[in-house]
Amino acid sequence: MYRFAIYGKGGIGKSTTCASLSCAFAEMGYKVLQVGCDPKADSTLYLHGGERISSILEVLKKKKDDAELEDLVHGGYKGIYCAECGGPTPGLGCAGRGIGAAFEALEERSAFDILEPDIVLYDVLGDVVCGGFAMPIREGYADQVYIVTSGENMSIYAAANIAIAVENFRERGYASLGGVILNRRNVPDEREKVETLCRDIHTEIAADLPRDDRVSRAETEKKPVLEAYPDSDYAAAIRELAEHMIRKGVDHHE
Ligand code: ATP
Ligand code: MG
Repeated sequence: MYRFAIYGKGGIGKSTTCASLSCAFAEMGYKVLQVGCDPKADSTLYLHGGERISSILEVLKKKKDDAELEDLVHGGYKGIYCAECGGPTPGLGCAGRGIGAAFEALEERSAFDILEPDIVLYDVLGDVVCGGFAMPIREGYADQVYIVTSGENMSIYAAANIAIAVENFRERGYASLGGVILNRRNVPDEREKVETLCRDIHTEIAADLPRDDRVSRAETEKKPVLEAYPDSDYAAAIRELAEHMIRKGVDHHE
């Protein structure tokens, strides 16, 4: 089992990257579980024809202990298992704590033993690195972190902060940094800027994803990009990234 967490600044393309990676891994024949850790609960949206699945926290609120694993994890495109942690009503309660409760609910129902995913992808908010948002990189969850960034200063700044948090937690047996995913916004000297970041945080560019209008067109069509535009350069770059992640990944057996 390979377990990855995808972090990055708000709006940088984490969910798109995650869902595209899930599709690429599924194409390779792997059984994939994607866990959205954003209170917006939109990580797996286009793996479900644009239809929202109930979040784990919503289901728990309604069904409490009667909630079964099938209520929390939903099958999507190419059989990808999709789960959304969800979160409290904005302004009320701590989103980070919600992630912990959602993870516990999956564990209590032996989700990993029953579903036996080969790949687990956590799609995580990366502006705030409070305890809750560090949850996915704690021992027993993701083994490697990938950070999505463009060459824009704010996203590079967020990426550097995430890398520092990962480094600080490492001694506790948390996840290590796998690499940086450049998701282009086509700003000047974009690759050079991200290369400088990588030197500073002692990692490498794992993928260089083109900015591509077909990504938003696929959203309009309510489909994953790899389904709507399987022959695009974007899809090719994602497949290459998926192979790279497996090569560099830690194969984790309990
Ligand atoms: P949030 O932090 O709000 O969860 P996010 O990091 O998950 O955001 P996405 O929702 O994946 O970001 O992407 C934000 C927008 O950017 C989407 O409309 C998506 O279509 C677009 N986008 C992402 N990557 C690309 C790309 N390579 N080319 C073109 N558009 C892209
Ligand atoms: Mg997102």
